[in-house]
Amino acid sequence: MKAILVGQFGGPEVLKLEEAPTPQPGSGQVLVRIHAAGVNPYDTYMRTGTYAQKPPLPYTPGSDGAGMIEAVGDGVKKVKKGDRVYTAKTVTGAYAEYALALEEQVHPLPANISFSQGAGVWVPYGTAYHALIHSSKAHSSETVLVHGASGGVGTASVQMARAMGLTVFGTAGTSKGLDLVKREGAHQVFDHRKAGYQDDILKATGGRGVDIILEMLANVNLAHDLKLIATRGRVIVIGNRGEVTINARELMARRGSIRAFTLWGITSAEEADIHAGLIAGLENGTLRPVVAKELPLGEAARAHKEILEPGAAGKIVLVP
Ligand code: NAP
Repeated sequence: MKAILVGQFGGPEVLKLEEAPTPQPGSGQVLVRIHAAGVNPYDTYMRTGTYAQKPPLPYTPGSDGAGMIEAVGDGVKKVKKGDRVYTAKTVTGAYAEYALALEEQVHPLPANISFSQGAGVWVPYGTAYHALIHSSKAHSSETVLVHGASGGVGTASVQMARAMGLTVFGTAGTSKGLDLVKREGAHQVFDHRKAGYQDDILKATGGRGVDIILEMLANVNLAHDLKLIATRGRVIVIGNRGEVTINARELMARRGSIRAFTLWGITSAEEADIHAGLIAGLENGTLRPVVAKELPLGEAARAHKEILEPGAAGKIVLVP
């Protein structure tokens, strides 16, 4: 089979399309014919070798794939050959024509969701769900600011929060991104590249502040976020690419809190919750993964460059 292999940590150029043996499922494992693989920012951090998760070399990247079950190993009961699935982590990596996964790492992909959309389910929607439901414990009557709403996690968060009844504000850095965020359900959108946009957000709440901020770039925004939250407001740190200085007095004055997580650290009970919620939302059309771009598997290096560039508009997926 064709697969992307990383033989050494480094820049995007270390992602090489190579011929590799097609794996065979062992006991409790399944083989998925990957029709699309989702590209997530953490795939790029991992590739550099500086991320908390450092795989042994060589490795094939990718936790998020969608496709069909090709074969199942002994004892597998949940799925059978021909089933449509999305993956939430894999054993051998999703940037490939075939990926091995544990039985519990595959989940049914509803018929109304394309494979490319399915490749954008696990990390983006799992993160949005965990941030809104488990971490912020959002209530329908609250206001959420999705700070960085045009990308994978952002569009997922906007759709989910809107469906839950919250008042949704979203930011993006391009007019295309702003249009997308509005279309996916934000009540109001703000350009995070425009000077003073934070004042416009505060004005839109009548000076009260927002109840929840889902923060995609904490190193840039966290200090100011603390001035944008209402009394008992919560900032949920999802993305961060550096250090930041905050004034804790802003938090104290508002009895606010900052919470943070990585999807790697969640419990299996939380993960079970997430998949149940996501599958229901995908089935009933509430959750509609937005595919920005489909690239051939061999263009993984380009995908890794583009995902870190400004101008997000949903997910970038690789098609083997
Ligand atoms: P993505 O698809 O690349 O989207 C990035 C988002 O950040 C876009 O909406 C982008 O907007 C926005 N952004 C750029 N500059 C910004 C600024 N100054 N202020 C606010 N937002 C800004 O990435 P993603 O998959 O949505 O992930 C978002 C972040 O969360 C990444 O850092 C990722 O590593 C992290 N993440 C963490 C977890 C976790 O477990 N904690 C899980 C998933 C993702 P424009 O392009 O329109 O400017």
